[in-house]
Amino acid sequence: MLPIERGLEIVMSVAKSKERPDRMPAEPVPLADSVHRILREDVLSDADSPPFDKAIRDGFAVRFEDVVQIPSVLTIIGESRAGAGSSVTVQRGKCCEIMTGAPLPAGADTVVMVENTERVSPTSVRILKTARENEGLLRRGAEARQGDTILRSGRRIGLADLGLLAGAGKSSVAVSRKPRVAVIATGDELVEVHENPKPDQIRNSNSYTICAQVEDAGAEPITLGIARDNLEDLREKIRRGLDYDILIVSGGVSMGKYDLVEKVFAEFGVEVLFDKIAMKPGKPTVFGHHGLTYVFGLPGNPISTMVAFHMFVRPLIQFLLKAEATAPKILDAKLEAPAKCDPERAALVPALVRFDHGQYWIQTAPWKGSSDLVGLSRANALIMIPSRPGTLERGDTAQFLLME
Ligand code: AMP
Ligand code: MG
Repeated sequence: MLPIERGLEIVMSVAKSKERPDRMPAEPVPLADSVHRILREDVLSDADSPPFDKAIRDGFAVRFEDVVQIPSVLTIIGESRAGAGSSVTVQRGKCCEIMTGAPLPAGADTVVMVENTERVSPTSVRILKTARENEGLLRRGAEARQGDTILRSGRRIGLADLGLLAGAGKSSVAVSRKPRVAVIATGDELVEVHENPKPDQIRNSNSYTICAQVEDAGAEPITLGIARDNLEDLREKIRRGLDYDILIVSGGVSMGKYDLVEKVFAEFGVEVLFDKIAMKPGKPTVFGHHGLTYVFGLPGNPISTMVAFHMFVRPLIQFLLKAEATAPKILDAKLEAPAKCDPERAALVPALVRFDHGQYWIQTAPWKGSSDLVGLSRANALIMIPSRPGTLERGDTAQFLLME
């Protein structure tokens, strides 16, 4: 059995292998559709930001020397508002009324906020509190200079980035095309969600969770429905699935008499590179490729499927998208209760994690094995228990994946 890291290396080495062309070309999308996509261009600031010395308070633009001694009374000689600056020059003893976002008039070097002033007459104001020089304003170019790189290719476009792109005038943004991922559930016991299962049936949940994981990873899911545990049905669906960038089949990869997925993979000439991982849950995870299609057979138990997707499929999608970070985000926590190790397999177990006193604390959550979605939904993390003899003790450091 392969350790998880080795399995991931194999997936990545296929993705990196030379005969594969650049799978995910860049495509332009309207700015509004670009959030959470992977940026494929370096974006430069098209102007200084802010583009002028800008007030960041409502108040009065003054000369610092006039507000050192307070209270002082200054003569108001003009008004500068957002979108309409003032052409006055602020001389000693004078000031200019100013609003947030307005250009600082010539001569002024400080903005006293209105809360620290008292209007004496329509043309004069008393400064009640001294200010620091340059207070209440942002100098031209303080955030970025024209021509500065503000975003780099490979970045997942977040909310702040979206605002930055808008500010930089990018109405169209180059992002990675989404890999198209075919999803097939397998099993004679499965019925669709709107159906009522007979006594020996269950509802298909994997198609939903896998598609959601695919979307969350930044790819486009296409569900091909449920294949029954017979060669004809599996052949028909898997043949269709092999036309996509990635094919994910859930279930049918264990040792049971009706686990036929690997047989059909072999019939189609899928080159399988591993079919067992030293991971609990998720041992019978299958990975191979066929032409330019990456092929996964994930174990059918809902939590096994999720974990295997997270460890192997998600990093592949990130790589194909040319995202700057491909590895799952792993954090450290202190164990609040001992956790038993398995010498054969690394385990990923639902856990409860909390943040307290500057660090994470974790303990395994109650669950009844790899089909227990109830237990998983009450947990907020997956703790990674290394494969070795013995026990992780209370107070030991353990790694975990945070779940939303
Ligand atoms: P298998 O890997 O096909 O042996 O399935 C392992 C377990 O996962 C069995 O209890 C299945 O009923 C269950 N299972 C398989 N596919 C799904 C699915 N799409 N949704 C929910 N449970 C599933
Ligand atoms: Mg099955």
